[in-house]
Amino acid sequence: MLKELIDQFYLDRHRDREQHHFYITDAGKCGRATFFKFKNVPREKMEARILRLFDHGDYIQMQILNTLFSLGVVRASEVNIPPQELVSGRADAIITLNNELYVVDFKSMNSMIFKKLEEPKEENVNQIQLYLHYFKIPRGILLYISKDTSELKEFVIKYDSALARVLLKSLETLKTKIDKNVVPERLADYPDNWQCQYCQFREICGMANGGDIKWEEFKKKIESREQTLGTV
Ligand code: SF4
Repeated sequence: MLKELIDQFYLDRHRDREQHHFYITDAGKCGRATFFKFKNVPREKMEARILRLFDHGDYIQMQILNTLFSLGVVRASEVNIPPQELVSGRADAIITLNNELYVVDFKSMNSMIFKKLEEPKEENVNQIQLYLHYFKIPRGILLYISKDTSELKEFVIKYDSALARVLLKSLETLKTKIDKNVVPERLADYPDNWQCQYCQFREICGMANGGDIKWEEFKKKIESREQTLGTV
């Protein structure tokens, strides 16, 4: 009854769309998974429950942003990086503390993961490095929030120009592969990498070998699988 309606609302709102440009969150992540998103490869559906959890995280982050506004430290919120061809992204906030500017990015998680967090996650550092790069701000803060205990942890991140260059270079390389229809190699530690554990393309990825492959050939394999499964 009502539960089904709510579930369907979330599923409809979260229809998979073909990706046409990079987001900052793609930086340093599995290139093959991003390639599949650009080519609109069919992915495993997310459960409505998981989508509601994302919503819950967004809500908690909004509350923290409101607190920062009340403290009077926010200079801008939900700030888009300057437009350019390669990548788009939106930082949660730019604040001033002790006359210094900081880019702030909020990350919410469950308390089990939060408790174990002793250093910032690599993918979050990659993301904030690109914000620092594009905003030309030397420091950022990754603020982690435990969704079920409301505890906070923060890590100050200094701009690392070498890392930002590596991340941008890898996006450029990936863009070339997307344009030339070359499916990138798998992650070296597939399937143990955490990204593989959560990847919506895991099954499809397992149908190819580990190295670069030609998209046109692999696409036929995917289409024949979809026909066998009766999804097209
Ligand atoms: S399963 Fe792992 S290697 Fe394959 S696309 Fe997903 S994240 Fe990348």
